[in-house]
Amino acid sequence: MTDNLLTLLKTHFGYDQFRPLQEDAITSALAGQDTFLLMPTGAGKSLCYQLPALKLNGLTLVVSPLIALMKDQVDGLKANGLPAELINSSLTASQINKVQADALSGNIRILYLAPERLASPGFRTFLRGLNVSLIAVDEAHCISEWGHDFRPDYRNLKYLRQEFPSVPVMALTATATERVRQDIFDQLELRGARTLVASFNRPNLTYQVRPKRGAMRSLEALLGQHRGESVIVYCMARKDTESIASSLTARGLKALPYHAGMDPASRRVTQERFTRDEVPIIVATIAFGMGIDKPDVRLVVHYDLPRSVEGYYQETGRAGRDGLPSDCVLFYSYGDKFKQEFFVRQVEDAAERDQAQKKLNQIVQFGELHTCRRAYLLGYFGEVWEAENCGACDNCLAPAEEYDATEVVQKVLSAVVRTGQRFGAGHIVDVLRGSRSQRVRQLGHDELSVHGIARDVPDDELRLVIELLVAKGLLGKNDGDYPTLALTVAGNRFLKEKERLVLPKPRRASVVGVEADEMPMDQALWQRLRTLRKSLADEEGVPPFVIFGDVSLREMATYFPQSRDSFALISGVGEAKLARFAEPFLTVIIEHAQEHELEELPTPPRRGQRERPSSGSVGSTFEETRRLLQQGLSLEDIARRRGYALGTVLGHIERFVGAGEEVPLAHLMPPPERLLKIIAAFQSTDDGYLAPVQEQLGKDYSYEELRLVRAYLRQGQSA
Ligand code: ADP
Ligand code: ZN
Repeated sequence: MTDNLLTLLKTHFGYDQFRPLQEDAITSALAGQDTFLLMPTGAGKSLCYQLPALKLNGLTLVVSPLIALMKDQVDGLKANGLPAELINSSLTASQINKVQADALSGNIRILYLAPERLASPGFRTFLRGLNVSLIAVDEAHCISEWGHDFRPDYRNLKYLRQEFPSVPVMALTATATERVRQDIFDQLELRGARTLVASFNRPNLTYQVRPKRGAMRSLEALLGQHRGESVIVYCMARKDTESIASSLTARGLKALPYHAGMDPASRRVTQERFTRDEVPIIVATIAFGMGIDKPDVRLVVHYDLPRSVEGYYQETGRAGRDGLPSDCVLFYSYGDKFKQEFFVRQVEDAAERDQAQKKLNQIVQFGELHTCRRAYLLGYFGEVWEAENCGACDNCLAPAEEYDATEVVQKVLSAVVRTGQRFGAGHIVDVLRGSRSQRVRQLGHDELSVHGIARDVPDDELRLVIELLVAKGLLGKNDGDYPTLALTVAGNRFLKEKERLVLPKPRRASVVGVEADEMPMDQALWQRLRTLRKSLADEEGVPPFVIFGDVSLREMATYFPQSRDSFALISGVGEAKLARFAEPFLTVIIEHAQEHELEELPTPPRRGQRERPSSGSVGSTFEETRRLLQQGLSLEDIARRRGYALGTVLGHIERFVGAGEEVPLAHLMPPPERLLKIIAAFQSTDDGYLAPVQEQLGKDYSYEELRLVRAYLRQGQSA
């Protein structure tokens, strides 16, 4: 049975294993049992009724409250080759007729319905003619008046139960207090239901609280770290959404406001541009919510204090639905509490007012917390978090402080100026730290007055300062393969006017990235794949994530599959997507691999692993190479230890360098004289290809040696 389900999972959805509770939910539904499934956002609820739909003889009806979501789900299923349709008010009468006919003749397996349909007698007649095997109620809390999202139309669901008394019902939700849960059971008449409750921990999310003072600057820095990625910024007032969005736009960051006061058409357009990766940043009131099913939101910012912990959890829950590391940042000041209290006082009913005040106090407590934020959030939902240190909230990572960074900033900017504004961060750091590497000496940069002036500042701190200066617009970074740094107008002014600057102190583990993403991917290929995804999505009129999620693209940019067989091993590639998309994606990957002389790498084994793979295990093969390099082993020794060909180890090294990672390579370099010759040869050919360099130097210089030196040079140049 299990094997069978796993095969269906890979064939139709392209995944290799179930996530926690999915299999339980699926077997329960297949056994004809009612099921209640409480799982946090992003845990993978949809699959729990979509997969049974493939195995069951009849039709699976899915009731869902939001038209836009329904369409995305159906598009996603169709992209996986599954016959699914929807019926809601967005369809014309003749389209509805067509879908109904298809449903009656058994041509579709999954039919999404808007709940208000059920009120129509004509529609009920249609339903009566169907062979229904499973009824799934998504966002089941909408049925309860006690919840925050009550939809009167959901009361029509009782009718489904009456009409199909023997068909199992699956109720799914991400939020349900005990009272709401009871209500769901009563209203849907769940009988002896299998109740499945997942942990509410979202392991891929980091939680941070930052001071409200200087929030705008801080926000810009955050957006700089998440450039090009999808971000939601929540604020309280409508006018703030507009002013923040426009000041971000003025700073060259594409942002749009969203609030309930906008007309429905502009709201829809805004939402669509966000889903389709055309505008990365939305600045919104909490009106921007349930309709957003975008799996790849990488940052959720609360510019103002939320009203409750529930609200905060739900809004931050929209980050990282695809399981990839994502950040949640709250800007907090005690003063915000008074703003919210103003609203609390407007509540007329005394009991409700007390309740609102209590909730506000709890989120204030969260803001002021000096202990683990994750533990507090989970505790709020009645879960005990055992670990002492979650490793992914600001309090578990060292506390953040700010410091007067004027001096080090002056040093960094001067070094950029003195070296001629044409080097990357790596080289600037080398000069500041007083490196006597070949490259520094060869360029004569060891003679400069800035050489070694920041000897006392660790490498990664200097790099962070550079990143922050780029984010703050004091340094400009051009977009090439080897981005170089130059002072902006603001940067020049800073130096001339002797301005001062306060920066956040670096923390050890960078807060960005839980379970630090171990697998370094090829950034350039990632960008090319994203472009391809976007153009295919536009052709088909679907959001990009319907074609492939970020997880799939990241794997492609990490393992470079170059045949259909290896492409099929990528997560998210099932039969239908293999047939439709292997060709365009392989074309891009192969082209890129040839241009950059990259070899295909084996994808990590996933089959048979019960737990969701931590990104650690995915990257562990790189991790080991990195460790051995750090121990100062030679290339040959590493290859021998690992039982790999030299080329494979070189591939790892190139990957580290491509991902902008600092790994020690100096000890692998040939003797100075030889090294200089190779460097000169590379400089004379300038496109970085190996063949012409080897031709120039002769067969005495091995291909591996040249690759190593090239990686070393690239590391010096890139940021
Ligand atoms: P929820 O409805 O619980 O918020 P979704 O059903 O939207 O979550 O799933 C979240 C993401 O996880 C989707 O991108 C989905 O394709 C992916 N996903 C679901 N199940 C698996 C699985 N077993 N392996 C890998 N990814 C999965
Ligand atoms: Zn913590």
